[in-house]
Amino acid sequence: MKTAQVENDKIVVKEVEDIKLDGRKGAIVRVLGCGLCGSDIVKFREKIVHNGAVLGHEIVAVIDEIDSDTGFKKGDKIVTSHHIPCGECDYCRHGNVSMCEHFKSTNIRPGGFSEKVYVSEEHLKNVAYNIPEDMTEEEISFYEPLGCCVRAIKRCNLIEGDKVLVIGLGSIGLLMGEGIKAMGYKVYGCDLIEDRIALGNKLGIEAYNSLNLDEFDRIIQEKSGGIDAVFMTSGADKALDVALKVVKKGGKILVFSSTPRNTGYPNNEIYYKELTVLGSYSPSPKDLRDSFDLLVSHRVNVKGLTTVYPLERVQQAFEDTVANKILKAYIKIS
Ligand SMILES: [Zn+2]
Ligand SMILES: [Zn+2]
Repeated sequence: MKTAQVENDKIVVKEVEDIKLDGRKGAIVRVLGCGLCGSDIVKFREKIVHNGAVLGHEIVAVIDEIDSDTGFKKGDKIVTSHHIPCGECDYCRHGNVSMCEHFKSTNIRPGGFSEKVYVSEEHLKNVAYNIPEDMTEEEISFYEPLGCCVRAIKRCNLIEGDKVLVIGLGSIGLLMGEGIKAMGYKVYGCDLIEDRIALGNKLGIEAYNSLNLDEFDRIIQEKSGGIDAVFMTSGADKALDVALKVVKKGGKILVFSSTPRNTGYPNNEIYYKELTVLGSYSPSPKDLRDSFDLLVSHRVNVKGLTTVYPLERVQQAFEDTVANKILKAYIKIS
């Protein structure tokens, strides 16, 4: 089978030995395609992963071989996520499921950018779903990324009537904005790229250019009457200035992206304005269930957000994503 492996500064497609179930519970799936996640790019660029690693976790697949106590069977077209919390450790008990050791140790193997993947019984039981007929594989591939957004939105504990700003309208920002709207809150967005602002508006996110910060702040205050929560999906250091400028006293800043300079929010602003700054990383099985429901009910519309690349061009997909040439890459594998 073919897999795309990290090799120094490149991602190369290699022929490796087919994986088999070999007496394990779970399933071997044939990967139809796999979304390219921002976290894959960070892992690759920052060299967090070793040579030989296979990235990708947003898979859509067909079950090829199965030994399972679940209802799944050979030939089922499924979507799955990659991590599962234990539900019992200190982190899990505090709701920080993505910090759980078990969560971090579970994965689909060898990784999503591969013709075949082993999906464990635990995955099938907790985070895998059959795909409805009317969903395209590209649409359902947003299952895990939207799950991350659902978790972030829940962590903000918004109340009825809250106004939210999403900074950064890349694929995750758009998805976040749509999720916020679908969950019942008024959502604004900002970016520096006009095409993305236009697309945000098309998807129901009232979006503006934030290049002139004072002007943007004036508009957003006038329109919203005060921003209760700011979602940081942009990886730019400058986004912090935007957040601090627009967030209202007592408001929340949800950190959803790493930034190059790794700087923080000033202590005194947090103190005097009674701000809440909180992070959100990766979803629980319940967040994923909610994400699945939002997608299959078409309350979150992801049509047209993806650009398709064959596995052989996965390196190009990484480069085009980094260069902001595309919103979201979907690697078509079989
Ligand atoms: Zn992802
Ligand atoms: Zn745990």
